[in-house]
Amino acid sequence: MEYMPNRYLNNLELYIKEYGDLLNPEAIIKEDILRQGVFFERIVHNENFSGKSYFIFSFDVDNDNDIATRKYPEEIALQNGIYNLKRTIISVRINKSSPYKIKFDQSKDKYVLFLDGAFIGDIVFSPEKSYMLKTTSTGKSVRDIAPTIEWGYLIYLAVFRMCQYFENNNECAFCDMRSNYVTQKKTHKDYSAVKSIDDIIDALGLINASKDSVSKAYTLTGGSIVDGAEFKGDAEIDFYVPFLEAIEDKYKGKWISKVVVQAHDIKKLKRLKDAGAFIYHTNFEVWDRELFDNICPGKSLFIGRDEWIKRIVDAVSIFGEYRVIPNFVAGVELSKPYGFSNIDDAINSTAEGLEFFMSNSVIPRYTTWCPEKTSKLGKLGNSSVPLEYYVKLLLKWHELHYKYGLPIPEGYGEAGPGKAEFSVSAFMDAFKIKGDA
Ligand code: SF4
Repeated sequence: MEYMPNRYLNNLELYIKEYGDLLNPEAIIKEDILRQGVFFERIVHNENFSGKSYFIFSFDVDNDNDIATRKYPEEIALQNGIYNLKRTIISVRINKSSPYKIKFDQSKDKYVLFLDGAFIGDIVFSPEKSYMLKTTSTGKSVRDIAPTIEWGYLIYLAVFRMCQYFENNNECAFCDMRSNYVTQKKTHKDYSAVKSIDDIIDALGLINASKDSVSKAYTLTGGSIVDGAEFKGDAEIDFYVPFLEAIEDKYKGKWISKVVVQAHDIKKLKRLKDAGAFIYHTNFEVWDRELFDNICPGKSLFIGRDEWIKRIVDAVSIFGEYRVIPNFVAGVELSKPYGFSNIDDAINSTAEGLEFFMSNSVIPRYTTWCPEKTSKLGKLGNSSVPLEYYVKLLLKWHELHYKYGLPIPEGYGEAGPGKAEFSVSAFMDAFKIKGDA
């Protein structure tokens, strides 16, 4: 039989060899897995691990009923193996066609990761936390109301799992919030669209009282709320402020509070801050003007790119330096049909945005795009962006972060290989920490 080289492994090795002086292998492999997703060849369903909570989006390439009725881990930790990796926490994105497959090795009695048949390393599933199995006084499960991710570090409070941008087809083109909700509702009847303050307070109480809680931060978020044809922002602020006030009133200082909402004017931002928001995330998604308008039509229509940028910078005067952290969806710059046709143009465009924000004491961060099939871009046939893009983006982000002398962002847990908990991109893994080998 003709020898067929493992092109996936060759590709990965190429980047590990070429960029090994600048980036740790943990960060490179993590990006490769995140962009392509993984598939599991066997899971015993009564095993004790923390299953995917589908906390806001599916993040899965394949998110049909067949996937939704099975239990997959929220995250995996990859370690040891052919690169002697330190523990690397990675969000699970299910992709039946991924070259990355997780199998159970009976001889070693553990799960292992293969890349197109080649052994990569050992796998551990996100540990189940006792509080996740408890219920609030109204009978809602903590997994639904206040699931934890990032190996338990972050409590994710998606209190409004709808987004009004979907109403006139103005949703972000990479977003599968609506189809995720429909699928989850079909398969898990207690999946909540809108959560009550009482349930949130109850669930946080259960987490707080639990001996196995390691949570240090919470994110309060949901889909966008618009006040009608002309966006004023009051409806969204009126909705979120009572949640913040109730949480901070009861648990002040217990967790770092992070709020992910639209870009608001100074007056509304002050209301969020006064209610207890510590970090403000108002996600920018993609820098290029034309791409922003095409990929984020709701953001473009209701607020507009220039105003969104202005409000991000203005927010520093309310929340303080480095506490405004807008997210980019890294990779959509290369999506069809609107995106750049080559990687360097995509990187240069995003780098312009990163530098603009970083030079204004804002710390932009990013999540790695793994196209969900039921999002608009997924339906257009988009698949994963090349690893080269993610390696170059990691290098560029860290180059600029260093150039502007910025701190490690608050509310993201530990930084560096073997320590990072942030699971949806490798920017926290790629930090070089003094004293680390
Ligand atoms: S603002 Fe965009 S990404 Fe966020 S929920 Fe709405 S459509 Fe999805």
